[in-house]
Amino acid sequence: MRTVVLPGGERVPAFGLGTWCLGEDPVKRDEEIATLRLGLDLGACLIDTAEMYGDGRAEEMVAEAIRGRRDEVFLVSKVYPHNASRDGVVKACERSLARLQTDRIDLYLLHWRGSIPFAETIAGFTTLQRAGKIRHFGVSNLDLDDMKAWWRTAGGASAVTNQLLYNLARRGIEWDLLPWLSERVVPVMAYSPLEQARLLTDPRLVGFAQRHSMTPAQAALAWLIGRENVIVIPRTGRRERLRENIAASERPLTAVQCAELERLFPGPALAQPLEML
Ligand code: NAP
Repeated sequence: MRTVVLPGGERVPAFGLGTWCLGEDPVKRDEEIATLRLGLDLGACLIDTAEMYGDGRAEEMVAEAIRGRRDEVFLVSKVYPHNASRDGVVKACERSLARLQTDRIDLYLLHWRGSIPFAETIAGFTTLQRAGKIRHFGVSNLDLDDMKAWWRTAGGASAVTNQLLYNLARRGIEWDLLPWLSERVVPVMAYSPLEQARLLTDPRLVGFAQRHSMTPAQAALAWLIGRENVIVIPRTGRRERLRENIAASERPLTAVQCAELERLFPGPALAQPLEML
């Protein structure tokens, strides 16, 4: 499994497991848990969740999936912006820890920017870090100006990631945000890497995948995994699809294949506002 180095030197897998919408359908629950456990068996030991997902049900399901295996997992969760005040962030984290049935979150993110000043959120994150309840913190969905404002705030430059919408069809961040983060060696966590499955029926991707004997999901994921400082967190609740997706991390695209994909899905020609899902 390819790894990405976080600021500070810790290595995490470049392929993690998304959990949005998991844990919500009792009929699918056993298979979803089995899928997360299979991910750990296969080395995808980074799990991304959030207090928002299923109103905490995703975190509860993650707890079940990692029971007895906590030390194998790099656990990421997120706080709602409206909970991200100095005290609110501490309380929200404690609720997440209870749902996750653990004593620590490895990486805790501000889910997106709200109206609470960054200084308050960072103060809450720092309190949690000192108490050993989170090991790292970071942000999500911050565009360049917000990212710079976060960075200028005391303590903000300790953020270890910005989790962003990034896939072949959403390359806007390559214009200025991604270079800015790369200069500071801050990895991006690419969310919705399959564009919530919509990419998989795009004729450009389907044609490419056929020509190169891979599946559309593998092509979309391999392109992201091949990029420097990018961690990809696709979601599936099915073991068969997880095996398919993870295989993309074992078969890097060639430079020629990357160039072909980038012609089919061109990067930005000018600055554009950050997109979110
Ligand atoms: P995604 O990973 O782009 O796509 C998930 C969809 O693709 C699901 O419907 C899944 O269905 C399907 N799928 C997965 N592998 C497949 C395959 N090989 N063949 C066919 N279909 C496949 O979308 P996402 O869930 O939005 O993004 C991934 C993760 O990023 C989330 O789960 C969440 O952890 C995180 N995220 C963060 C933010 C944020 O604001 N920070 C926003 C969105 C997402 P099945 O489950 O049925 O396989």
